[in-house]
Amino acid sequence: MPRYDFRCRSCGATFELSRPMAQANDPAVCPQGHQDTVKLLSTVAVTGAAAGGAPQQAPGGGGGGCCGGGCCG
Ligand SMILES: [Zn+2]
Repeated sequence: MPRYDFRCRSCGATFELSRPMAQANDPAVCPQGHQDTVKLLSTVAVTGAAAGGAPQQAPGGGGGGCCGGGCCG
């Protein structure tokens, strides 16, 4: 069951609830009893280095031809 983070706008507390996805957008009640809460962005799928995973390739790099090593003058 996924977890969702909420923030209470009444007291500023953040709390976490486990609930079915079907109820993801249901209103949550603060542990202090406040009902003025907002759902925070889920962090379920974010693990470590999410950006820049692919190595950069230099444009027009040597293809392994003989001229790359200066062997053909
Ligand atoms: Zn509260």
